[in-house]
Amino acid sequence: MSDPFTIAPGLDAEIARAAGLLRAARSAVALTGAGLSVESGIPPFRGPGGLWTKHGEPPLDGYQRFLRDPAKAWRERLNPTEGWARGLRETLDAARPNPGHLALAGLEQRGLLACVITQNIDDLHRQAGSRALLEIHGNHRWLRCIDCHRRFDPTGFAVDPERLPPLCPECGGWVKGDTVQFGEPIPPDVLRDCYRAVERADCMLLIGTSGTVYPAAEFPLEVLRAGGSLIEVNPYESELSPLATVSLRGPGGAVMERLLQHAAAAAEPGRAA
Ligand code: ZN
Repeated sequence: MSDPFTIAPGLDAEIARAAGLLRAARSAVALTGAGLSVESGIPPFRGPGGLWTKHGEPPLDGYQRFLRDPAKAWRERLNPTEGWARGLRETLDAARPNPGHLALAGLEQRGLLACVITQNIDDLHRQAGSRALLEIHGNHRWLRCIDCHRRFDPTGFAVDPERLPPLCPECGGWVKGDTVQFGEPIPPDVLRDCYRAVERADCMLLIGTSGTVYPAAEFPLEVLRAGGSLIEVNPYESELSPLATVSLRGPGGAVMERLLQHAAAAAEPGRAA
């Protein structure tokens, strides 16, 4: 659960303003990062208390290692022995969506949000009910063919530990975990869909991310260049704060919950224009 956070009247007025921008938008897109999932119990990777700080760093050539010996990489996935892999697995398995994830799903259900682009691999947007979801760095639960990029839900995909790596039923390519590893290119289909969504967007919600890592760094700038608005939700200032149309300084959970309330209240039948 998130820490109790009281929304001061000044912040509430800004949230109402942001809700107005969302409602006025033809196509709003959210870009989310690690900060949103901190309230779900997933610490950042680096820094004090970070996952890598505690458990050690994954190899910087993880994808090349997979390509060299996919069977070995699969044995490690099925039965993690490395500290960082076990730490990550335990943390992700224990995490649950927070009010911020749920509010984004609520905005989509009300037709106020076209899609969520996320840098997170934690599956929490999916668990919260977001349907139009672009996971730039993949999803830790899912599997993906490295040749045709088809995704597989692991619950419906049998993996024979005696015959690794599993092969794609569509094209025969190697199947790996969907998470984009160090050294691995971002799957081109996701990247293409991100650019399409950003091109159409005239409002971007930036939540829990400094938005400075490629390719995500380009998205808010693209929306601004096209004359759209930028709503930042972050307890801390980021490099994009000076460019934001509205900056909402607070935790993603409480702020997004309130934003949904404002946006939904004004969009109720009979009150909408
Ligand atoms: Zn394939």
